[in-house]
Amino acid sequence: MGEAERGEAAPRKQVTFHCSQQHQSVLAFAREAVVPESWDCPKCGLPASMDELNPPPAPRIEPYKTHLAYVKERRSDTEAEDILQEAIQLLRSRRKSGEIIF
Ligand SMILES: [Zn+2]
Repeated sequence: MGEAERGEAAPRKQVTFHCSQQHQSVLAFAREAVVPESWDCPKCGLPASMDELNPPPAPRIEPYKTHLAYVKERRSDTEAEDILQEAIQLLRSRRKSGEIIF
């Protein structure tokens, strides 16, 4: 895939894609280019879309968990929930400030 035109003068539009890891990727397209519905996130490689609230689901890359592993993981639900909420808050506050999330 070669880029025929690399001129800075070409009109561009910026499109933000969101993956299920909550990465935001701003991509520049030629104004007349058709923006694809999905794009591989440059940060993690997962599929990303323009719909921030409904990014494409991540393909299953985690190894299958045994029932026992699942139970062990859930032994402290409230603690896990707290950690999750904290992480979500952190992501949200970072996103507001425009910081790139890795
Ligand atoms: Zn990503």
